Amino acid sequence: MYYQSTNPFNNQTGTAFDAFSDVELDSKLVLAQRCFEGPWRDHSFAQRKAVLKRAAALMRERQQELAELATQEMGKLIKRSAGEVALSAAIIDYYAEHGEAFLAPEVLDTDKGRAVVESSPIGVLLGVEPWNYPYYQIARFAAPNLMAGNVVMVKHASNVPQCALAFAKLMSDAGAPDGAYTNLFISKEQVAALIDDRRIRGVALTGSEAAGAVVAARAGKNLKKSTLELGGSDAFIVLEDADIDKAVKHGISGRMGNAGQACTASKRFICVDSVAEEFLNKFKSAMAGFKPGDPMDESTSLAPLSSAGALSKLLEQVQEAVAHGAKVLIGGDRVQELPGQFMQPTILTDIAEDNPAFAQEFFGPVAMFFKVADEKAAIALANNSPFGLGGSVFTQDAERGRRVASHIETGMVFVNSAAVSMPDLPFGGVKNSGYGRELSAAGIQEFVNKKLIRVA
Ligand code: NAP
Repeated sequence: MYYQSTNPFNNQTGTAFDAFSDVELDSKLVLAQRCFEGPWRDHSFAQRKAVLKRAAALMRERQQELAELATQEMGKLIKRSAGEVALSAAIIDYYAEHGEAFLAPEVLDTDKGRAVVESSPIGVLLGVEPWNYPYYQIARFAAPNLMAGNVVMVKHASNVPQCALAFAKLMSDAGAPDGAYTNLFISKEQVAALIDDRRIRGVALTGSEAAGAVVAARAGKNLKKSTLELGGSDAFIVLEDADIDKAVKHGISGRMGNAGQACTASKRFICVDSVAEEFLNKFKSAMAGFKPGDPMDESTSLAPLSSAGALSKLLEQVQEAVAHGAKVLIGGDRVQELPGQFMQPTILTDIAEDNPAFAQEFFGPVAMFFKVADEKAAIALANNSPFGLGGSVFTQDAERGRRVASHIETGMVFVNSAAVSMPDLPFGGVKNSGYGRELSAAGIQEFVNKKLIRVA
């Protein structure tokens, strides 16, 4: 069985699903193409908005049920799962409300008369999505594209199949016609074959660099547009004039949210000498305060990682970092007392530039700590990374914060807070973190044809 979850708290397996046969996959693609050419592309914005508004409302009605599924399948703390459902509903509503205005025809008055740029849908899109935010990741791909008049097919991560089905049911219960939103249980080979198929017009992937490189290469070979939201190793800079208690609070939520399994998690803590010791001492005691337990229990503060594989990969990375000279200030091992996939909150120090860890993403509760002489060195270290997703700067001088932020080579920088995601803020990165944007007005522009019409 290719699609199956294993509850990472108690190792119980969930319902298993076979991957579709090629014939089944083709019939779904036929339906999606028909839906695009039939009702969906020709629907008014008001008709598409009505479907999305119903989907958002249903999502709120089903919040508890959806949250429990996410917690069972990938281990997220139940309160955070409920928060993710609420955010996903807000994203769907946001595009329902603003999609038409974002795509309004643009009138160009030139010296030689008037022209118009229309934003038309391009067809059937494929989304390849990860397990770490099983509803949010899909919502931010599906909602803008459906509102734009495209139809979407979604290959979700193989360890969250019940979340994938619950989302598809939501869209169908909201009145989306058959083929507007299609859940796909398919293999990587079938993803490649789909990208080759002329009916697929674009592909969006959120996931690892390895998957991004494979999918983007395939799309490139077929001259198809792709967007990539990949990994990150966000810097968290603490300058000498920072409010240290605030920085510690945000550093903890930035590193520990979703058990550290977020692309925009704060991963590299870069402190200026004069405040490094105070920050590190306070950060260390806060990290030591996390309590592992059942993620369904509201009093648990440390959730398990998503899978046994995720935990063993993280443990290997920590061991390799130590073998190359890093020191473990706290943690460094799995939580021995529990059978689930728990990693101790960990801080690594003394990470030299030639340590493999220096350039790696740690997808779990492992913080890398660095001390630097000044602001200039902090910026240089922040930019010395293959990734370019997000980052944070802490200073009590807002102007200075903005200046430092403008020198950081990433798609997003937050002054005096850890990274956040909201429907109206663009999300995406540069360098190995990918290209393209999701969310905000930018997120609905990626897969539309900006068509010039000029009548002479
Ligand atoms: P992953 O292995 O790349 O999986 C993500 C999705 O890609 C899954 O649906 C997976 O399917 C699929 N996939 C993997 N290899 C593929 C291939 N060769 N061809 C087609 N599809 C393929 O990612 P992960 O390690 O589970 O997720 C964590 C990574 O995602 C981290 O690096 C994280 O930073 C990144 N991420 C980025 C963002 C962002 O917005 N920038 C957000 C969240 C996560 P299977 O499950 O079937 O393998």
